[in-house]
Amino acid sequence: MPADLYCPDCERTYDAGPAEPWRCACGRALEFADRPYPEGEPLPLSRLDTSDGLWTFFEFLPIEPHVTFHEGFTPLVDAPAWDAAFKLEYVFPTGSFKDRGATTTLSRAVELGVEKVVEDSSGNAGAAIATYAARAGLEADVYVPADVKQSKLMAIQRAGARPVRIEGSRQDVTDACIGTVEGETADGDDAPFQTGEGWYASHAWNPAFYAGTMTFAFEVAAQRDWTVPDAVVLPIGHGTLFLGAYRGFSLLEEAGIVDDVPRLLGAQAAGTAPIVESVGGDPLGGADESTDVADGIEIAAPAREDELYEAIEATDGDAIALGGDPIEATLDRLHRSGFYVEPTSAVAPAALEQYREQGTLSASDDVVVPLTGSGLKTL
Ligand SMILES: [Zn+2]
Repeated sequence: MPADLYCPDCERTYDAGPAEPWRCACGRALEFADRPYPEGEPLPLSRLDTSDGLWTFFEFLPIEPHVTFHEGFTPLVDAPAWDAAFKLEYVFPTGSFKDRGATTTLSRAVELGVEKVVEDSSGNAGAAIATYAARAGLEADVYVPADVKQSKLMAIQRAGARPVRIEGSRQDVTDACIGTVEGETADGDDAPFQTGEGWYASHAWNPAFYAGTMTFAFEVAAQRDWTVPDAVVLPIGHGTLFLGAYRGFSLLEEAGIVDDVPRLLGAQAAGTAPIVESVGGDPLGGADESTDVADGIEIAAPAREDELYEAIEATDGDAIALGGDPIEATLDRLHRSGFYVEPTSAVAPAALEQYREQGTLSASDDVVVPLTGSGLKTL
């Protein structure tokens, strides 16, 4: 039975199904009513069968594995020049960590008997949803900005998904997408049930996506012999990986598998830094102007903004903004060190340096940083 949906704010519940609402009547993003986890001690990595990739951790997931390439278990490698460990999240079938959420989201779509999925994205999430829809044999419409990058458009089209170009802002693209999935509601108090024109496989709103990104935390802990680092520095756009990490580490702690949740330190780009603002930081990060180099995290209004703030508060975390210059300099340094990533992936390692300089992190702190997207797709 597919897991039902639940609103942590107003405690309404909704039955699972292709017409389930894409958000709560109160406006909040929905979550799964179930948060399963296994009992007892976990196996050491040497005895863990990891051949199913991130689905190795199926006992933590409220979804059955229907659509998978056995993705995940990305390498965790030393990065001596940064005195940190990098998790190579660009080592996925579509070249970004978004596959973590795409495998669980499309698996959920199959569980619900959905025939068509819709998503809005300007990049990696659209490519991931299109690719996993192809794997599932489902139709997919991906709403994209009219000026979408050609390489990202190709990844969507070649997988057989239909790109729908929308003129206007990134929000206009989202609004157009939601307009096709959302049914008429009697009044403002009703939840927006879905019409059957497509199920909203949104990386920002759909809880199935975050079930997938939680596996980042399980892998980090397993790869470190079921311990957690002192801190993880992650980029924040909608915060799909940031919140996934928070939920995953929290679930491990709740299951008694680890003793602590690491400090979660966020990184945003100067000029598009709503979370930095909400923690009282400088949204320009000391830079003179905003930057558009990190197009993957240019999100002015994250779908789960309040929860991002809570995750930072709960872990003694923080969020800072980085200007274009440190991002570009870090990208160059990453490439010269053999990490061929896209510009957005340089924001978190650039933030790591800043966090050390300002004393948020000490030299002895043990830090993990994900590198989120491949450089190959930016060509
Ligand atoms: Zn609600």
